[in-house]
Amino acid sequence: MTEALDRTLAYTKSWLESLSTRQVAATADMETLLDDFAGPLPEVGCPAELVIDELAAKAEPGMHGSPSGRFFAWVIGGTLPSALAADWLVAAWDQNAALAACSPASAVIEQTAGRWLKEALRLPQEVSFAFTTGCQMAHVTGLAAARHHMLAQQGWEVEARGLRGAPPLPILASNNRHGSVERALRFLGLGTDSLFLVHTDERGAMKASSLATALERTNGKAIVCLNAADLNVATFDDFKTLVPMAKDAGAWVHIDGAFGLFARASRRFAHLAEGADAADSWSVDGHKWLNVPFDCGVSLIRHPDAHKAAMTLSASYIAPDASVRDQIDWNPEWSRRARSVPVYAALRELGRSGVEDLVDRCCDHCCALVEGIGTLPGAMAMEKPLLNQGLVRFERAGHSDTQNDAYTQDVIAAINKTGEAYFSGTRYKDRQAMRVSVVNWRTSTEDVERTIQAVKQVLVKESAL
Ligand SMILES: *Cc1c(COP(=O)(O)O)cnc(C)c1O
Repeated sequence: MTEALDRTLAYTKSWLESLSTRQVAATADMETLLDDFAGPLPEVGCPAELVIDELAAKAEPGMHGSPSGRFFAWVIGGTLPSALAADWLVAAWDQNAALAACSPASAVIEQTAGRWLKEALRLPQEVSFAFTTGCQMAHVTGLAAARHHMLAQQGWEVEARGLRGAPPLPILASNNRHGSVERALRFLGLGTDSLFLVHTDERGAMKASSLATALERTNGKAIVCLNAADLNVATFDDFKTLVPMAKDAGAWVHIDGAFGLFARASRRFAHLAEGADAADSWSVDGHKWLNVPFDCGVSLIRHPDAHKAAMTLSASYIAPDASVRDQIDWNPEWSRRARSVPVYAALRELGRSGVEDLVDRCCDHCCALVEGIGTLPGAMAMEKPLLNQGLVRFERAGHSDTQNDAYTQDVIAAINKTGEAYFSGTRYKDRQAMRVSVVNWRTSTEDVERTIQAVKQVLVKESAL
């Protein structure tokens, strides 16, 4: 066994060390990768260390350097050293973190990780939590609790009776919601037809007047879904106004704070999410801004009773012990990995001030990138970043909007091809944009400089074409 692990350690070190010099984008094309991993199930096996050697050699060219400090596409967090190492321990310990009885330490560490996270995000300690696979399943968990609570208030026990014949449960959300909210509604049987569209202003923030109308029409018997930062420009809904309005009307307020809720960990940015703590449920990601490896989201819920009613599970062979928290009662899975352990490690490594520093640093780098790229000839900043998300666009004088849409896409592809940095595109206000997302502890001032230089060279070349 140790040979495979030794090689994995050596390989991991060389992978991480290579991040500053290797191409950021994957170099292998799809065809090669499909070819490399083609073939039927082998009849006979192969020694573990050779599996690792072969896997690493074949796969690496097809891996993006997404843990590098110059990967700014989508919203992809990095991995802190302690979180990566703790994730290895989780695999080595190989515990089933479903029940305290199955793994006492995993249950206790999860309690502490949840408590610390609430402290970092400045949420009330009476809030209950569940560590899920990501923000997607955190939405499912939070909205399942919301569904229970809102229907129970109308005398309908949804866990027993299902939704056939149930009172309607409209979901008030804006067009700026993330697609995972919609999918959660599908999973929960509420359906996307239950969406009631609330209008937004030009930055994508929900309009209070439109929410007021929607609450009135639905008699407040609704779930309101708000955003703590959208993907394009990190627009926050105005929680100070909207949350009390929705709560006074009797609605449940759910906040999608996948990465944006971490603004609350920073004194400089907390004002953006002020008033968010008055909501009923929140979804956040561990694997984005907290920089733990993938497979980690967190659902936080103000009403532990509704949370537990929606998720709890009792089976005859489970020996419930009232003094401990069984994870199975709070999350939608049965057997599961101890995914809160890397969260514990990350928060232990950073401390409260380290989380704040991580948030502040990413935001500063995002500003520097958007400003630095935006002032290059042929480039423009579309919006000044509010947090860690920004948009730039590339234009050639005398060309139409549509032509410049295509040009922006060409420039993104050309930047990615240099191997110096990696970006993805999006559409914003009907125009093509390049998204600048900084969510990685590794990104440094040098990475920012190097990226701006790379973009500059691409623009010189492209404009000469
Ligand atoms: C990433 C993201 C999600 C989905 O989270 P997963 O962890 O990928 O399931 C939801 N909402 C927002 C705002 C996001 O950025």
